[in-house]
Amino acid sequence: MKTRSFKKTKRIALVAHDNMKDELITWATFNKTTLKDHQLYATGTTGTLVEKALDQPVIKFLSGPLGGDQQIGASIAEGKLDVLIFFWDPMEAQPHDPDIKALLRVAATWNIPVACNRATADFIFTSPLMHQDYEAILPDYSSYTSRKI
Ligand code: PGA
Repeated sequence: MKTRSFKKTKRIALVAHDNMKDELITWATFNKTTLKDHQLYATGTTGTLVEKALDQPVIKFLSGPLGGDQQIGASIAEGKLDVLIFFWDPMEAQPHDPDIKALLRVAATWNIPVACNRATADFIFTSPLMHQDYEAILPDYSSYTSRKI
C-alpha cells in the first residue's frame, strides 16, 4: 500500500481570488498562532498580503493568473506541499479557470486536505492531525506508472 507522509510541520499553500482575499486574511489572522508552527506558501499577491498580515515569511509562487496555481499543483504532485487552502470565488469567472480546475484535480489525486471555504479551513485547523505526523493512503496508481502503449 502506498502512502504519503505528512510531517508534524505542514507545508501549507494559500490561494485566494481577489474577491476572497479579505476573507482569507481575516481567517489567517485569526489562526496566526497555529500558522506559525507551519511553513507557508502562496500565489504571488496572496502571499504578499499574508506575509504582511502575519509578519511571517511566505514562499511565493507566481501570481495565479500568471501560472502560480499550476506551480502549486506541480508542487503537490511532487510531494512538496501538504495542505491547500484555496478560497476560490464562486461568484465570478476567472481568466485562469482551467488552472483552478487542474489544481483542485491534482489535490484530489494526491489525497491532500483542501479547504475551499472558511468553515472547512476551520475544521482542518482544529484537527489534532495538524500537529502530528500522518500517513495518507494513496490509491493504487501503479498502472499509470508502468503503462505500456
Ligand atoms: P494571486 O493569485 O494570489 O496572485 O492573486 C490567486 C489566484 O488568482 O489564483
